[in-house]
Amino acid sequence: MNKKFITRFAPSPTGLLHIGNIRTALINYLLALKEDGKFILRIDDTDKERSKDEFINQIKQDLEWLEIYFQEIFKQSERLARYNENFEKLKEKGLIYPCFEDPEELERKRKRLIERRKPPVYDRAALNLSQIEIAKLIDKGKKPYWRFKLSSKRVIFNDLVRGEVRVETSAQSDPVIKREDGGYLYNLPSVVDDIDMGITHVVRGEDHVTNSAIQVEMFQALDKPVPIFAHHPLLVNENGEPFSKRNAASSVKSLREKYLNPIAINSLNISIGTSIDLRPIYSMKEMAENFDIGALGRAPARYSEKQLLKLNSMIVSSLSFLQLSDDFKELGYDINEDIWECIKNNIETLTEVKEWLKIIKGPIKNDNKLDSEFMRIVEKLLPEEPWDETTWEKWISKIKERTKKIGKDLFLPLRRAITGKSNGPELNKLIILIGYKEIRNRLKNN
Ligand code: GLU
Repeated sequence: MNKKFITRFAPSPTGLLHIGNIRTALINYLLALKEDGKFILRIDDTDKERSKDEFINQIKQDLEWLEIYFQEIFKQSERLARYNENFEKLKEKGLIYPCFEDPEELERKRKRLIERRKPPVYDRAALNLSQIEIAKLIDKGKKPYWRFKLSSKRVIFNDLVRGEVRVETSAQSDPVIKREDGGYLYNLPSVVDDIDMGITHVVRGEDHVTNSAIQVEMFQALDKPVPIFAHHPLLVNENGEPFSKRNAASSVKSLREKYLNPIAINSLNISIGTSIDLRPIYSMKEMAENFDIGALGRAPARYSEKQLLKLNSMIVSSLSFLQLSDDFKELGYDINEDIWECIKNNIETLTEVKEWLKIIKGPIKNDNKLDSEFMRIVEKLLPEEPWDETTWEKWISKIKERTKKIGKDLFLPLRRAITGKSNGPELNKLIILIGYKEIRNRLKNN
């Protein structure tokens, strides 16, 4: 293993992973795989109220299903001692200070600055409190929360996606790192973990660029090397909106429940905003070899459900009945190999198989708009059993001879009468699966 290449994915277990989250996971995993490095799953569960075990389990299941394998896992909630130690170090250096303003007071200050057209940056009033003033406030029962003192200088780092990034920390409020109740907020634990786990590459969404600048100052204040950063554009939906944990419809769990193939999801995710073609890539190794983080575009990465379904149908139609038998069992489908071979090119997801099973087994609703005279004729010309692959041809030539209809005028009403739909699998195969008796009924009823 290459210890010089360690990445991590750090979700908060406060909701379900969505397609955008797993794009971050996939990129981190592929980078580690490509370099024979290590990929770590970090659970950001410092928010006790909102973090739930059920979400941790779901995250693990989702990643496993997607074949994104982590070599190590840990939870932030188990590492408080390390955060406290580093908190004390920063405090000794005078880089952390107690604050006492309540949210209303902070909001008043913010509004005043905005009214005066000034950036709403915290004024560091608490930094000017004397030891005596602080002791008095604590005596009065006030509990402090803590901020990290930024340098007010410009932070510069080289981002593998964005190139040179400059952030003026003077335009940022000193971040709160510890709450009144002693709980830590995101930045310090993240830095301490990245140090302790030897993370070499921090790869996350571009919504973290400012945090990264804050974190650079924390690494430096703790006398530790700064990791390499890469901030990828966030995935947006078809309307250009970001994905949300609160929207269950775009969760990985729901994609799985729709029986979408994980290869389709990964292949789509890695093609968006990169030079990798949109095609099913069956091996993670191949995907990793083709992936180059430096070639990632900076434009918003746009997800398309249509493309996902297209990839999925390509993958699913290439699978044999045997390869899918477990899925079919799980879905409770009464299906055999002939049916699968007949319908496999006409579905986008496995859940659509159900519809074709219904059509094959019947009964179906009749299409009242069909020409009943034509139906009467075709029904009369329907060949007697036994049927085989040549039956359809024989039937069609008799119909052509009798009615002189060709092309769409001939095939469309037949298809609609037999299946209730305007398109679908080849009829020569389908009619055998439906069978003489049922076809006859359908023709009669139309
Ligand atoms: N829990 C953070 C998030 O999900 C982690 C960000 C990071 O990778 O450091 O946004």
